[in-house]
Amino acid sequence: MEFSGDRFDVVVVGAGIMGSCTAYEVAKRGEKVLLLEKFDFLHHLGSSHGESRTIRATYPEDYYASMALESYRLWEEAESEIGYRVLTKTPHLDIGPAANKSLQCLIANCEPNSIHAHLLDRSRLRDMFSGAFQLPEQWIGVATDAGGVIKPTKAVAMFQASAIRRGAVLRDRMEVTDIKRDEEGGGIWVSAATGDRFWGRKCVVTVGAWMKKLVKAVSGLVLPIQPLHTTVCYWKIKAGHEKEFSPEAGFPTFASYGEPYIYGTPSLEFPGLIKIAMHGGYPCDPDRRDWASGFGAPVDSVIPWIERVLQGRVEAGKPVVEQACMYSMTPDGDFIIDFLGGEFGKDVVVAGGFSGHGFKMGPAVGRILAELAIHGEAAGFDLKHFRLRRFGEDPKGNAKEFEDQVSYPNHE
Ligand SMILES: Cc1cc2nc3c(=O)[nH]c(=O)nc-3n(C[C@H](O)[C@H](O)[C@H](O)COP(=O)(O)OP(=O)(O)OC[C@H]3O[C@@H](n4cnc5c(N)ncnc54)[C@H](O)[C@@H]3O)c2cc1C
Repeated sequence: MEFSGDRFDVVVVGAGIMGSCTAYEVAKRGEKVLLLEKFDFLHHLGSSHGESRTIRATYPEDYYASMALESYRLWEEAESEIGYRVLTKTPHLDIGPAANKSLQCLIANCEPNSIHAHLLDRSRLRDMFSGAFQLPEQWIGVATDAGGVIKPTKAVAMFQASAIRRGAVLRDRMEVTDIKRDEEGGGIWVSAATGDRFWGRKCVVTVGAWMKKLVKAVSGLVLPIQPLHTTVCYWKIKAGHEKEFSPEAGFPTFASYGEPYIYGTPSLEFPGLIKIAMHGGYPCDPDRRDWASGFGAPVDSVIPWIERVLQGRVEAGKPVVEQACMYSMTPDGDFIIDFLGGEFGKDVVVAGGFSGHGFKMGPAVGRILAELAIHGEAAGFDLKHFRLRRFGEDPKGNAKEFEDQVSYPNHE
């Protein structure tokens, strides 16, 4: 293997959106970077594949709003560098019972983050978005301009191409099996199942649903990251209403708070179909997935929601297309972005547990990880909510004043 034995400033392990953005940001800073991936690039076995991810700035937690807005800027910057688009801008709509705590916190976070939000009651919402949303009594809506749909596989490919253009070295079919300190010269040795060994001054680990396994194997530390097998569903729009659900007609990306939390995107990737899915899934082993187990609750719980909210516009019988994917859940739904510590000190940075809402943040996370690896700090970002050791202080992690949004059986 031609690069085995070469020395890099940073070795990034895992080429989903987080690793690919990190490799790009490191290369952009003129450092020598190697990105290693276990499967083929752009595979569909992790979390960053497929046709659509929502970007929105509205969050119940105030620390995500500014990160999402910064990402929005970085998505556009990356698009103008490569010359094509991966993001389709749309409005974003949050709905739910007026008394829902998450929704209330989300509304409270808009103004301090300069997010222009329109608070809508049932009747005002009936006049918007072609009348598609029929809210139950006591429900409200919050509409903002900062929404959009990102094409995930294309976006990962974009960051990989931009990284290569800036001198990054990318290698797939390269499963990392060990990460060790270089006791003689300092730095880190990264070993692959192929027998290849790579040296990096620093190493960044972004292996998604495999974080718990790899970090435990390397350091003995057990990260509370639970992989969830989830299913994305596409539903048929009733004849005559197809255009109303398109981005051209101004249809928004949306999130529906309460139990279950439902999200969706405008009709884009499959004409005549709309993506509507439940935020949740089943615990799984990323190396032993039962591809059929996505059926059941994550799909069934969407049906009554469609009947209730998108009355008469979408066929609620059964989804036309279903696609499997994985979440990496932390107990508090917050990311883990930190130095591994212990014998690795600040030489190994770990980033995982993106808990079903990380894709939009990829460019900002890539920037943070590049700066942590190169400079030992990420200027302008407050990372205290993403500390690895918060779970040692409280196994539930960050305290929240609102309910869980992601549903899955047997919380660990
Ligand atoms: C159905 C679904 C819908 C979602 N919707 C949204 C949304 O609307 N908005 C949003 O912001 N986010 C959303 N997300 C979340 C988002 O997609 C994830 O947070 C994000 O893709 C996580 O990226 P990652 O790079 O951490 O993980 P991954 O994409 O899984 O990348 C990790 C990579 O590491 C590789 N790897 C693993 N082990 C090794 C090893 N030992 N050596 C080398 N490589 C290794 C894997 O093969 C993989 O390619 C959604 C997720 C799913 C599943």
